[in-house]
Parts: sequence; C-alpha cells; structure tokens
Amino acid sequence: MKLFNTLTRQLEEFEPWDSHKREVKMYCCGPTVYDYAHIGNWRTFVFADLLRRFLEFQGYVVRHVMNITDVEDKIIRRVQETGLPLRDYTARYEAAFFEDFATLRCLRPHHTPRATEHIPEIIALIQRLMERGIAYQAPDGSVYFSIEKYQAAGGRYGQLARIQLDHLRVGERVRSDEYAKETPADFALWKARCPDDGPVFWPSPWGEGRPGWHIECSAMSMKWLGPSFDLHLGGEDLIFPHHEDEIAQSEGAGLQPPGRRFVKYWVHGAFLLVEGRKMSKSLGNFYTLRDLLARGFSGREVRFTLLSGHYRETLNFTMDGLHAARQALTRLDECLSRLREIANRPSHEACSRPVPPTEPGPDLVQPFTRAMEEDLNISAAWAAVFDWVRELNRRLAAGTMSPATASAMLQQWDQVDAVLGVGERAELTPPEEILRLAQERQVARKTQDFARADALREQIRAAGWLVEDTPAGPRLKPLSPSSLQT
Ligand code: AMP
Ligand code: ZN
Repeated sequence: MKLFNTLTRQLEEFEPWDSHKREVKMYCCGPTVYDYAHIGNWRTFVFADLLRRFLEFQGYVVRHVMNITDVEDKIIRRVQETGLPLRDYTARYEAAFFEDFATLRCLRPHHTPRATEHIPEIIALIQRLMERGIAYQAPDGSVYFSIEKYQAAGGRYGQLARIQLDHLRVGERVRSDEYAKETPADFALWKARCPDDGPVFWPSPWGEGRPGWHIECSAMSMKWLGPSFDLHLGGEDLIFPHHEDEIAQSEGAGLQPPGRRFVKYWVHGAFLLVEGRKMSKSLGNFYTLRDLLARGFSGREVRFTLLSGHYRETLNFTMDGLHAARQALTRLDECLSRLREIANRPSHEACSRPVPPTEPGPDLVQPFTRAMEEDLNISAAWAAVFDWVRELNRRLAAGTMSPATASAMLQQWDQVDAVLGVGERAELTPPEEILRLAQERQVARKTQDFARADALREQIRAAGWLVEDTPAGPRLKPLSPSSLQT
C-alpha cells in the first residue's frame, strides 16, 4: 500500500516498523473539547477511521490512539467565561464528541488519553528536555523549548513544515500555542500560572502552571505507543506548529532507538470547505454534525459525503452533496436488499430461468483494494462500488442471479463495507462513557438509590441512548435523532 508521507513529500510504500510487519501503531490528534466538533473536524476523524479500517482490512493489527485535548488556551477561556470547573466543562463536549463519533460510525480508538490525566508524564518529558539542555525556564516562570539548542544537538527544526530558519530570532519566545510559520520561535512547554488561568493549574518543579498544547501530544503518544511509532495523523493545519513541535520535543528527548525517528509516516488530511468557503459562524456555513442531523440527514449520509473525495484534496461540502449522498446510498441499499432477498430464497424459486449455481458475479474486492492501495484513492474505490452495483442491477433485472451468487456478492460487500462503514446495518456499540454511566446506574439501583438511577438514565438519554431493563440485565439502544429532540 502506498501512502503520501508529509515528511518526505513523497508517496511511499507503507511498511510498519514491527519486525513481523503485522502491528501498526497509529496516533491521531484528537479533539479539543471546548465545543461541539464541526464537520471540518469530522472530515479528519473519518479519514483517520478510513485509514485504520483499511489497514485492518489488509491484515494489520492496528493500535489506534487518539488523545483528548482537555486543557489548552481556548478551553481555559471558556472555563473562565462559564465559571464551571474544567472537568465539568470538558466532560460535556467529550461525551458529545463520542456520540457523534459513533453516529459517524468511526471505530473507537483503543486508547483515548486525556491530557489532564497525563500531567506527570508531561512534566517528566519537560524535565528530560531540561536535563538535555534543550529546555529552559524564562524569567516569566514558563518553560520554553530552545530551537537553537535543539539544532546544536543535531535536531532539525522545520523538517516537516519545510521552514527555513534563516530568520529565526534566537531566544525569542512565543507563549501562545498557535503562531505562524514565518515567525518560528522558542515555544512554551510549561506555562506559568497567570490570573487568566483561574483555577486551572498544577504544581511542577517550575512552579504552578499548565502544559502547552504541543507537549501534551508528545507525552501521550509516546506513553501509549512508545517513543517511535508508525503513523501520525491530523488535519493539514496541524503540520505547523503542532506537529513540527511534537517532532522537536519527542526527538529532542532522544528516547528513540538508534536509527529510528519519532514517527515513520506523517499523514495529513486536507481541509473541508462549505459551499466553497472557509467555515465561519458569520458566514452562516458553520455546521456541527448535530446541525445536519436536525436537518434530517443521517450519520451514514454525512459519513458518505465526508468520504466522497481524496483525503489530500480540499473537500467542498455542500447541501447538494448531501442529497447526492442520499441518492447514492439509496441505490446501494436497493441493490443490496434485492441481493438479500435472493440469497434468502430457496434456490428453486430464485429466478424464472434456471441458472448455474456456480455463475460468478462481478468482482468488487479486488478493484476496491487496488484503488485503496494507491494512497487511499477513494474516488476510484467508489467507482468500483458503483460499477459493481450497475452490473448487479443489470443481472438482477435479467433475472439471472442465483442465491449462491447473491450470497457471494453480499459477502464481498461485507468485506468492503468493513472499510467504508456506510452499510445499512452497521452495528452500534455504546461509547465507553455511556457504558460507565449505565454501570453506575446499576450500582444506584442495587443500593436502592432510585433518584440517582433516574438521573443517570436521563443523562444517558441526553447522550442519545435508551436503557431498557430486561430480565437479563440492562440493554442499551441508540435513540434516533428525532427522539433526542423531544
Ligand atoms: P481541534 O479540535 O481544533 O484540535 O481539531 C481537530 C482536528 O480537526 C484536527 O486534526 C484539525 O486539523 C482538524 N480540522 C480542523 N478544521 C478542519 C477543517 N475545516 N477541515 C478538515 N479538518 C479540520
Ligand atoms: Zn496533537
């Protein structure tokens, strides 16, 4: 399989570091839980899900980690505005994120670490950078990463974003997590507590404060995947400074085995535009998934739309595109339901004319695989799917489909849909958070705390799930979007 590596700006044959070429370690920068994720964010997460699913389809065992950024500048601003404790504020958007994640049929990552639960690892990493002389505490009390010292120690700052450091103003510092490629400077690893942070701070060897955004991802990815792993994903806006700084911090700490870098393949998804423009609240083209569900679209229709273009090309999201997705899916559903009908029929009733049971159907798996192996060429993959549907419809119309062939075709579809995830009957597994709430509710019921049990049921319902108490124990069912609004 070929993938475009942002680091080398080349299509490369994908080969994981695992000596058995079996295990793939993949990290995707997760959401900043300060608000509902918008469909631009969703494009990136659905693309990560597609890549994971395709690697699994290829037989790899993927370890997928996606962090939750639950402390950074934007979150702190909101916490200050609302007066809520940090965890109360972020918990709400984190739960909403995982609900949307399930609605879009994204497979749950194996680990979803929260930054606030990795403060010791973050501090240890900064300490190591201090010991190596690459980090320093500035007079303002904050700890910064020294690009100059990193370079002097053999590091190559700017390798991912391809920036020239001719204009680097040595010793100049930037405290904010976001800054332009044209003005690289020493960036904050640990931000000294300031009045604007309110109650959000932790103790550290450098005084009270909080981590910078970039160090959070270095600490969490290396904790869960080791100091050197295969794939690191995110939207293209993360190339600089976020991913550049992640490389600097992680390689600056020098924990990688000899000859290995922090990440083998950097893969970035292009941006999503809405009706040809950058999404913004003032333009009225800013959509969350919930906005689209409220307009009557389903998660699978949105997923299909988000997967309609190549991940390295800008995707223009339009309402027309969503309607087209609905039509395409209907065409697919109709074909599949006719196949199911035939596959379930006793063979003597299968068709008006006798057909040999061994009659082969058109092949889907091979052309689909070939397309996806070329840097996830999704357009060619969809073309393979819809050519297949056209051919099947032709045979269905001619009445020449045997039950055996129909079953074989459905099996092919199941294989392909394990990657695409748009089939009609995708399973819905409740997110971890919901399972935890349901468990808490069981405990409350057992201790006869019915008020608490009811409150938990309500909380679960608000998150889109219904608890049904059955003789075999509680069962969780997803609520439809319309019942959520009532
Ligand atoms: P955030 O929650 O802001 O940290 O962003 C989560 C992910 O969404 C990151 O990987 C971003 O690169 C990505 N992202 C943000 N805006 C867009 C957009 N308009 N199109 C595609 N991806 C985006
Ligand atoms: Zn990150």
